[in-house]
Amino acid sequence: MNKSIVVLFVLSAMVGSLMIGCKSSQPSEQVMTPTSTDPLLSTNTLIEAPPDFAKQRIDSEDYPVPPYAKYLQGIKICLDPGHGGDASQRGYKRGSNGVREAEFNLRVAQYLRDFLEYSGAEVKLTREEDTDLSLKDRAEVANQWGADLFIACHHNAIDNKPQVNHTTVWYHNGVDERPSDLDLARYLCQGLFDALALPEVTGVPLKSDQLMYPEGFGVLRAAKVTAALTESSFYTNPEEEQRLRQPEYNLQEAYGIYLALARYAAAGLPKAKLLQPQDGIISANTPRTLEFELDDGLRSRKSWGYERSMILSSSIQVKLDGQIVPFTFTNDGYRLTMELPADLIAGEHQVEVEFQNMYKNSVLNPFFTIKVESGF
Ligand SMILES: [Zn+2]
Repeated sequence: MNKSIVVLFVLSAMVGSLMIGCKSSQPSEQVMTPTSTDPLLSTNTLIEAPPDFAKQRIDSEDYPVPPYAKYLQGIKICLDPGHGGDASQRGYKRGSNGVREAEFNLRVAQYLRDFLEYSGAEVKLTREEDTDLSLKDRAEVANQWGADLFIACHHNAIDNKPQVNHTTVWYHNGVDERPSDLDLARYLCQGLFDALALPEVTGVPLKSDQLMYPEGFGVLRAAKVTAALTESSFYTNPEEEQRLRQPEYNLQEAYGIYLALARYAAAGLPKAKLLQPQDGIISANTPRTLEFELDDGLRSRKSWGYERSMILSSSIQVKLDGQIVPFTFTNDGYRLTMELPADLIAGEHQVEVEFQNMYKNSVLNPFFTIKVESGF
């Protein structure tokens, strides 16, 4: 091993131990186990965690489970720990001391899963190992599973500005694209603010992925379910890089995202369901009326006053192939109906049903494909 690299390595491990000194219940004096003599090519760059580290801490004094977290029960959440399988690309997605984004993204997602499952959510990770997956394949895990929510878990980097360290959460395209993406992003951002308590905030932490690429992020573009991407902090900040190696800090981050999702779920996750025609096929003898059932995500709790409308009527909007069309809505049974135009051509059409519940949470699944068969 090259002597200067050894010195660099020991130094970086010492910085890590110093940082750990201010935390309770840390595995003390643990040093990084290099698998390469070059830190910028090494793997296992995190401080090893005791077995079941998160599971042992859930609902402890440091990580209490709030009563409202019960509303996570049954919600399907797909977590996508960014990157993986990339250690051989020297310096790729690493801090200056070699700590790898792929590794702490994964550990945060795994800890987050432990919290969420504790509260009864169903959770799928797009990867469990240090392996790569295409951006499209990551989103497909969520799409094919029928996830309610999809969260890509990342940490940020910036060249030549080691002092920068703040939270951003990203949504796809414009603010009108899918309103529920913004709901998810807002809750995530608040949870990360609370959990990481970074001293720096950026003016508007919710960011469009079109700021990075004209087509947005591939992973969000491919997601057909409510989705957002977290860039929780900057690993190019040397102090943050050392914190991100620590199991306790990863757990804190996971806890923040967990509370964010619990708050989001507690405020009700609205959904729409096509009742007529159930299969979405309009044939010659099918009425040209579409009937939807709206679910505010709250009424089924049968709380006092549940018969009252908890959908903001002014928020309801129906679009046919992107054009706003008339509809009728009745609070009784939350039924929404719309008439398809008589001259609608045969083929597939998209119907979008948007609405918000009284927490201003938008419907998770506004898009429906209708197939009009020829023969009218
Ligand atoms: Zn990343």
